[in-house]
Amino acid sequence: MSKSDKKTKTCRILAIANQKGGVGKTTTAINVAAALAEDGARVVLLDMDPQGNASTGLGVGYDARQGGAYALLMHEKPAADLLQPTEINGLSVIAANTELVGAEIELVDADERETRLREALVPLAESADYIIIDCPPSLSLLTLNALVAADGVVAPLQCEFFALEGLGHLVKTIDRVRKKLNPALKMAGIVLTMYDRRNNLSELVAADARSFFGDDVLETIIPRNIRISEAQSYGQPVMTYDPRASGAASYRALAAEIKGRAS
Ligand code: ADP
Ligand code: MG
Repeated sequence: MSKSDKKTKTCRILAIANQKGGVGKTTTAINVAAALAEDGARVVLLDMDPQGNASTGLGVGYDARQGGAYALLMHEKPAADLLQPTEINGLSVIAANTELVGAEIELVDADERETRLREALVPLAESADYIIIDCPPSLSLLTLNALVAADGVVAPLQCEFFALEGLGHLVKTIDRVRKKLNPALKMAGIVLTMYDRRNNLSELVAADARSFFGDDVLETIIPRNIRISEAQSYGQPVMTYDPRASGAASYRALAAEIKGRAS
């Protein structure tokens, strides 16, 4: 096969980002990744948070998390050697542990420190349909690497006070990354999470988000659903833990919407 016959790149790289903690990034990363895999895609979840919650949430225990995202970012090992299987067909993980904190310090003086992840993911993009990156709760070098490597950002927005304010910082950061390092970066969508129908505040935040960010806000809303958080403590996505839960249905719908928006 000559080079020109090669298929154009079809892998989508999505960074799940918001510098606020506890807004549903990890939960969204795990469940969107699992829903896409359930739908037949080859998916890699890359855990870029030193806390490693996405790794744990997919059943990769602490002892099995050595290397992972740290080795990837430091260019110690090729991405393919760092993949760990999960119980979900088609879904593998590049895990994270607290070593990843060290990467930020070690890379402080490195040349092109913002583009290291993008380079490391090039070979992986050949064999995956989606790479979903779970970002830490900061706009640090780790998140910056994810934004430079990604084609799209999915920003979870928790339905609570001051939620929009935090998103403003993220939007500014995305603009800066676009200008300097990754002109192709798109807002793949803002997703309202932990929506509580009984709470007026949820409705207010949702309305505010839509009037401020317009079509960037995805139609699918993720409800507050105990099964979603329970699933994580069993190292599973909600789709396998309780396929009939409202949380499973919403994350399937979200994955389908994100998929549909790309075309
Ligand atoms: P982040 O990664 O942004 O810090 P998480 O995804 O870890 O946020 O979510 C914070 C907490 O809220 C976790 O304990 C998680 O299980 C819980 N949670 C997230 N989304 C939901 C939801 N839709 N319903 C119930 N609990 C949720
Ligand atoms: Mg998290």
